[in-house]
Amino acid sequence: MMDNSAVILHKGKDKAIKNRHHWIFSGAVKTLPDFENGSILAVRSADGEFLGCAYFNKESSIIGRMISFDDRPPLETLKTNVEQALILRKSFFDDDTNAYRLINGEGDRIPGLIVDRYKDVLVVQVSTVGMEKLKPFLVDLLVQKLSPRSVYEKSNLPSRREEGLPMFEGLLYGEPVRTIEVLENGLRFLIDIIESQKTGFYLDQREMRKLVRTLSGGRRVLNAFSYTGSFSVFALAGGAVSVDSVDTSERAIELAQENCRINGFAGGNIRFHVADVFDFIRDHSLENDLVILDPPAFAKKKSDVVRACRGYKDIHRLVFQKIPPQSLVLTFSCSFFVDETLFRQVVFQAAREASRQIRLLQRHHQAYDHPVNIYHPESDYLKGLLLHVE
Ligand code: SAH
Repeated sequence: MMDNSAVILHKGKDKAIKNRHHWIFSGAVKTLPDFENGSILAVRSADGEFLGCAYFNKESSIIGRMISFDDRPPLETLKTNVEQALILRKSFFDDDTNAYRLINGEGDRIPGLIVDRYKDVLVVQVSTVGMEKLKPFLVDLLVQKLSPRSVYEKSNLPSRREEGLPMFEGLLYGEPVRTIEVLENGLRFLIDIIESQKTGFYLDQREMRKLVRTLSGGRRVLNAFSYTGSFSVFALAGGAVSVDSVDTSERAIELAQENCRINGFAGGNIRFHVADVFDFIRDHSLENDLVILDPPAFAKKKSDVVRACRGYKDIHRLVFQKIPPQSLVLTFSCSFFVDETLFRQVVFQAAREASRQIRLLQRHHQAYDHPVNIYHPESDYLKGLLLHVE
């Protein structure tokens, strides 16, 4: 029997969905029923096989996002996926860490939704019209399961434009909260929920901060693109003899100072610079023997890749030219479109141009509360290299 309310995919264009990838591109769709943007519809292959349910938006080139691949009611599947996301986090974090990502979009099989936990405050990001419609259901569910003090939405994501959604920020539940102090592996951090980047903190770098603590003993650390100084605090906790934190954002540097202070670190060896990292490195002689480079995504879209690589190469060449012998460089790219192979090529070219001997010691990825869905590689974006410069 024909199912008039279902979306039918073109023959041969259903392979990704059969392989549990979440995105349906408009070119893959053969027939669309009438629907209001954001509606949940059944998805079928050209020969009528039921593939699951997706929410749809005609405005977007990713016209549909699968929210279930089984024949259960889709909201039940979503509920299970939320429960599974919470179970995973529970198994990883103890009382020493109360800030982590609870829901990581497609990485947790819940497209369009990010939820971060900062102690008893949840911060939510919604990136699609379909998720906008599901938001009341999912926020209720999270409130029921976690009893947070408040839930704040911080959906100031450029990707919402493609969905025809305006930017939105505001309180969804509970009492208004501005700043909150959280713990990460026993160290204290102030999060400014309102005036911040992302949802407040770069939770994806947690494992790298732990690594920095173990690498910093006796070193002079440069934390470039420091944001609120999270790497600086871990470096000091690990026994760094000095730390320079550099960021263009005044508010971020202010919080970086506060974060060092509340962890008991103070003194002339802890310096803060509101500055452009490129200028800072050009203008200083660079006596730092552990340099952390964690820039923002230089490539936000595919067409940015060439320019982004030039930026990555410039910054690495500058560092490699100036850094003292026997130094470490911990460098990251969070641009999805610059993959690890390309990132390594860029670093390799910079090393050649600076004529330094450089060895790769370790490779890194995003922390495990940012899981990558094995069927949906787009949730993998962060890569890091630990380099030794002779
Ligand atoms: N390492 C940080 C996150 C860095 S995010 C952490 O773990 O918390 C990138 C930061 O780079 C942002 O704080 C942004 O303000 C800053 N930034 C962007 N361009 C910059 C530039 N050219 N020079 C200095 N800082 C810059």
